[in-house]
Amino acid sequence: MNPTNPGITPAVRATGVHKAFGSLHVLKGIDLTVMPGTVTVILGPSGSGKSTFLRLINQLETLTGGEIDVDGEMIGYKTVERKGRKVLQTLNDKEVAAQRAKLGMVFQRFNLFPHMTALENVMEAPVHVKHMPKHEARELAAAELARVGLSDRADYYPAQLSGGQQQRVAIARALAMKPEIMLFDEPTSALDPELVGEVLNVMRSLAKEGMTMICVTHEIGFAREVADQVVFMDGGVVVEKGGPEIISNPQEARFKDFLQHVL
Ligand code: ADP
Ligand code: MG
Repeated sequence: MNPTNPGITPAVRATGVHKAFGSLHVLKGIDLTVMPGTVTVILGPSGSGKSTFLRLINQLETLTGGEIDVDGEMIGYKTVERKGRKVLQTLNDKEVAAQRAKLGMVFQRFNLFPHMTALENVMEAPVHVKHMPKHEARELAAAELARVGLSDRADYYPAQLSGGQQQRVAIARALAMKPEIMLFDEPTSALDPELVGEVLNVMRSLAKEGMTMICVTHEIGFAREVADQVVFMDGGVVVEKGGPEIISNPQEARFKDFLQHVL
């Protein structure tokens, strides 16, 4: 698939993205285009800036350089007319929230509310953020739990669920907000090996439904099978990117070396 089809607005487009934490320069000019309905897998060693990049897209961190567009809209800023000139103005909290609502994020640690059932966890944001009536949110939450194969666990508390089931609830919770794009940050890294497959299966079925996804993961098999685009990051730059075939045929020494260690 051509990742930069001109007639279509990219779901996410990062241009020259930089991020520094004080004197620590973490991202050093990231360019990446993600087309709607595609799956991008980001690979890279620990500390290469993968999580920071996802957090920037979701505005959990602010850029120190470059630009990110989500669905054709620059994040964090809008253009306004002032004295006949177009100027950039930072968005207020409500406008940032509206942009962030386009994105769902799933983290390595699921952070479910321990005192709420699976169903209540999924209902939480629709009720409290979107002010959806409870009966409606309950139906929606039940449907999202069904989507991740957990209809029979709706009334269980997180402590009564396996790690894989908890992560699937976390995915359902993100989906309940009806995001256009899902960001996954190592969603299976904290799981026992036998529980990884069920979470990857849910991600696989989401991809099949046409969800736009950016996944940071070390699951090379998943990348090979599901990714439209594979990105290898190291040291805050994109070292290599291309179709999933680059996993079998890496060009850059650093990517080859990385693959030898994870495969
Ligand atoms: P990855 O997800 O690829 O492992 P991260 O994006 O988490 O990498 O981190 C990249 C670098 O940025 C690391 O050196 C990390 O310590 C640093 N870093 C991440 N977040 C912060 C922060 N909030 N403040 C300072 N340094 C940070
Ligand atoms: Mg990380």
